[in-house]
Amino acid sequence: MSVTHAPQTADVLTRQDPELAEILLGELHRQSSTLQLIAAENFCSPAVLAALGSALANKYAEGYPGARHHGGCEIVDVAERLAVDRAKSLFGAEHANVQSHSGSSAVLAAYAALLRPGDTVLALGLPYGGHLTHGSPANFSGRWFDFVPYGVDAETGLIDHEQVRTLARTHRPKAIVCGSIAYPRHIDYAFFREVADEVGAYLIADAAHPIGLVAGGAAPSPVPYADVVCATTHKVLRGPRGGMILCGGELAERVDRAVFPFTQGGAQMHTIAAKAVAFGEAATPAFAAYAHQVVANARILAAALADEGIVVTTGGTDTHLVTADPAPLGVDGRAARGRLAAAGMVLDCCALPHADTRGLRLGTAAVTTQGMAEKEMERIAALLAGVVRSEVESVRAREEVRDLVGGFPPYPA
Ligand SMILES: *Cc1c(COP(=O)(O)O)cnc(C)c1O
Repeated sequence: MSVTHAPQTADVLTRQDPELAEILLGELHRQSSTLQLIAAENFCSPAVLAALGSALANKYAEGYPGARHHGGCEIVDVAERLAVDRAKSLFGAEHANVQSHSGSSAVLAAYAALLRPGDTVLALGLPYGGHLTHGSPANFSGRWFDFVPYGVDAETGLIDHEQVRTLARTHRPKAIVCGSIAYPRHIDYAFFREVADEVGAYLIADAAHPIGLVAGGAAPSPVPYADVVCATTHKVLRGPRGGMILCGGELAERVDRAVFPFTQGGAQMHTIAAKAVAFGEAATPAFAAYAHQVVANARILAAALADEGIVVTTGGTDTHLVTADPAPLGVDGRAARGRLAAAGMVLDCCALPHADTRGLRLGTAAVTTQGMAEKEMERIAALLAGVVRSEVESVRAREEVRDLVGGFPPYPA
């Protein structure tokens, strides 16, 4: 087993720094021997890992291809142009910026491109699945902008479109943000566009979660509707940890200047190269099949959890994401997560709309990359419910998880 899957570095790391190499191997073992149900995670390919571990990590490249502040950029320029071209073609966008270091820095740059401090922004409230960058007081967004939160319907768990429209008319925001860390349903981008147009606001789609499904044709694209689309490259999209921004040609220059030099310095060329690899992979029929299987798996998982008596928010899912309230099994999300962790099932808690207790957030991106399908989703749901109910003791559950994941190694030797 190699440490990083980047062939040029793996062996030397084992020889030179066995202490650190052991930590990396330990993490690889953890990822392969437990069940990865964190909705924001995935297993990127050995090719993506190889690009991340390449000599491009050495290169300073402030600026953009053809206009850098450093010498020696002629080769990394080709890499960045390739990443940009692949992103544009994958998503049908007029412009792509692939330099954002993360999803959060992509959102920061989008705000910087379109807003001034103090501007009013309408976004899904954090208790309903909004991200930190959508107005948390602990984040730059809440400190520098005046966020007005919209919510979801208490009964259905669906975005309250009437409330969005009313709040937009009342507050006349400079921008409306649509996108969530925990919303399991498709977002109606045409609706948000219509409201934004009515009140003269920019529409920013923060598609960090569903962008991989969009790439595979398994979810509607925000690109034709939003002025700016922010995304991550490491969630369902299965690329390296990072962000990107898509927009129309008329905003290209503002977005580029908002990323560099306004919010970032030198581009991370090894990550950009790895993004190019991931965009190339995402353009294949195999990835489209993957994206559709991710959704099929999430639907089966949601239905099987409901059969176990767990309350599934919105009654199901359109995406890779399932949010659920285990309360009917006698515990809240936080306690359930602890029991599941002991059994080797790794997932997150999430806020539940209109409830004081926490729920569970699960995703199928990683397990689907491993090759799991409908049968495994049913097995996972049964095991999860058994553990949460404390019917299956954790040592036995841990054995079952090991047995299950053993058949689906994320990085087969
Ligand atoms: C994941 C996510 C982000 C942030 O991505 P990071 O890379 O963790 O900074 C932003 N917005 C939404 C909606 C997300 O889901």
